[in-house]
Amino acid sequence: MDRRSAGLSAKRIETHVNRPAPTYRIILDEVRVPARRVMEAGFAEIMAGFNRERIMVAARWLGHMQTALGWAVEYARTRTAFGRAIGANQSIAFQLAQSHADVEAVRHLTYHAARRWDSGLPLSEVILDVSTAKLLATQAVVRVTQTALHVGGGWGLTEELPAMRYALDALVAPVTVGSWEIQLRAIARQMGLPCD
Ligand SMILES: Cc1cc2nc3c(=O)[nH]c(=O)nc-3n(C[C@H](O)[C@H](O)[C@H](O)COP(=O)(O)OP(=O)(O)OC[C@H]3O[C@@H](n4cnc5c(N)ncnc54)[C@H](O)[C@@H]3O)c2cc1C
Repeated sequence: MDRRSAGLSAKRIETHVNRPAPTYRIILDEVRVPARRVMEAGFAEIMAGFNRERIMVAARWLGHMQTALGWAVEYARTRTAFGRAIGANQSIAFQLAQSHADVEAVRHLTYHAARRWDSGLPLSEVILDVSTAKLLATQAVVRVTQTALHVGGGWGLTEELPAMRYALDALVAPVTVGSWEIQLRAIARQMGLPCD
């Protein structure tokens, strides 16, 4: 609808996450919507849009986790404690190696879903790939950014380093464009399970 419509207003909601894209409560009070603005395909059109957005969102969080991991690796290589780089400790190095595996798994799933989408297949044939990519990307970005935060140690919790910002921003990933539960439901249904 036209954002200048009479009766439509918006009120800012302060969030801990996603601050570059502010969040608003939309208030509709007797708003009249002209018939020419009604979406013809309705819900089906919105759901197709959601599925496309889920691939974009997976790609967004892939970039986010890649950035967080790149920062954490560099930090682990250059930050010294007790006379050596913290990345020389297997306990730190293995966490970063695990994060690498997460990033690469999400990259392949996301590109696979995008290729399937671009090939023009009907929506019903790409939902499984889309929801799988979206689910794993939004789970992995939480893990990878938590690892980056942990590698940052106490400094990671300060505004001197970007680690906390990476971790905080990742917390919105599990809920946007269909939460983890919604993706799991879509996957289960595509697997033929009678899941409501
Ligand atoms: C800063 C911010 C930005 C956002 N941006 C977007 C955006 O751009 N696009 C977008 O699509 N969404 C976005 N969201 C998410 C969206 O606004 C909602 O938060 C989301 O759809 C969940 O709805 P809710 O918060 O009312 O939670 P609720 O519906 O109250 O759900 C709470 C919990 O219960 C689970 N749940 C609810 N119903 C069921 C069910 N039937 N079966 C199983 N589990 C269930 C949910 O998965 C969730 O874990 C954003 C959220 C925030 C905080």
